[in-house]
Amino acid sequence: DTQSSAGDKAVIVMGTNAEFPPFEYREGDNVEGFDVEIAKKVAEKLGVELQIEDMLFDGLIPALEAGKIDFIAAGMSVTEERKQNVDFSNGYYEASQVIIVTKDNDTIKGPEDLKNKKIGVQLGTTGDAEAQNIEGAEVVQFNAGFAAIMDLQNGKVDAVVLDSEPAKNFAAQNDQIKILDVELTQEEYAIAVKKGNTELVDAINSVLEEMKNSGEYDELVKKYFTA
Ligand code: GLN
Repeated sequence: DTQSSAGDKAVIVMGTNAEFPPFEYREGDNVEGFDVEIAKKVAEKLGVELQIEDMLFDGLIPALEAGKIDFIAAGMSVTEERKQNVDFSNGYYEASQVIIVTKDNDTIKGPEDLKNKKIGVQLGTTGDAEAQNIEGAEVVQFNAGFAAIMDLQNGKVDAVVLDSEPAKNFAAQNDQIKILDVELTQEEYAIAVKKGNTELVDAINSVLEEMKNSGEYDELVKKYFTA
């Protein structure tokens, strides 16, 4: 899917997976969210039009490496493994993986209880990697966190491991699920560029700094993280 307001101007392409509220989600034909607002600022700074490519999360790094997109803004956590393939901007958000279960579940109370359980995750995410490390767990990979939540509700998986903010978002709209009060990981989101693209990463870092200094960053936090 392509979203563009391009006229004659040069274009910069953001790759994302719009299944990750409040960082990116579909609103009608548009992709909106916290990451989109940052990306708009980057495009503005560079004097180019922003185009958004919505794709599967695990296709983002290959698309970046192939030059199909210029940067990834997708609530992507910095990991050593990803650093082998992309360069990251400075971090812009601290996040964690959390465990989601149905409200009536009183057997899964923490990570220890996930052993030998069926765990839903979003394919290719840090939550996926984390779940794979749990002893005896059967990890079920979904293309979207929302689909994992649906299967949780239908009893097809025992728990879902997901990033904290989308988890809160889904929980706010679904009174049958709850988030356990324990963080499985500490992660930091950053914007990824193709290895060696220092020009773009420098521009992104100055935008992030400007947004923090001007108070715009805090405004966005207020706008998108109400829960
Ligand atoms: N933060 C997680 C990761 O980087 C999930 C991101 C996402 O699903 N958009 O893997």
